[in-house]
Amino acid sequence: MNKILIIEDEQRVAELIKQGLEEQGFVTTIANDGQTGKQLAIDNHYDIIITDIILPKMNGIDLCREVRLQKPKIPIIMLTALGTTDDKVEGFDAGADDYLVKPFDLRELHVRIRALLKRNQTNNLQGFILKYSGLELNLNTKIVKRDDKEISLTPKELKLLEYMMQNPERVLSRTEIAEQVWDTTFDTGTNFIDVYMNYLRKKVDKDFYVKLIHTKPGLGFIFKNYSL
Ligand code: CA
Repeated sequence: MNKILIIEDEQRVAELIKQGLEEQGFVTTIANDGQTGKQLAIDNHYDIIITDIILPKMNGIDLCREVRLQKPKIPIIMLTALGTTDDKVEGFDAGADDYLVKPFDLRELHVRIRALLKRNQTNNLQGFILKYSGLELNLNTKIVKRDDKEISLTPKELKLLEYMMQNPERVLSRTEIAEQVWDTTFDTGTNFIDVYMNYLRKKVDKDFYVKLIHTKPGLGFIFKNYSL
């Protein structure tokens, strides 16, 4: 299921977009200001971000720039009531993939969303090998190698490693990992993530001098080569 973040301060417009997208089977989250939207976009996984330009606390153009620094590939569609050429150019400069002038037809928004999702899938197929510091994960064959030595992982370990390799050098909280890898919200009192992280460490790090999976006490985990 594709997840979409809608950043829009006009409650009525946000609800309308949300309704339209949910009818199409998307899962949506609404943020009513730029600051909240930016934080959600950085902390969570979304397949597409739809953002208004004129927003309280942080405008859509600054938001787009800042999110792009952390997540260069996430598709962003900008909405605006102004629709002047200057805004359009600035929006694209900031890294927006597409642009819609309000008021727009929801069907038009669906067409743009589908096009962006399709483009992203094609990109992912082309770049299907994740590589980091001698570690390789082929998303197509599911073969994992470190320094050309094959490592055998269970499907869950594979999914966990894939998520970490897609988000390197960033602290990943247990909540985020639970949501993204297990598709569940983290229930306090369970330590299943730590258990899986230990399995993964034994296979990925134990026999190698450089360790890639690290615990950040009180915060979560980070996938990083500290000697780089
Ligand atoms: Ca607005």
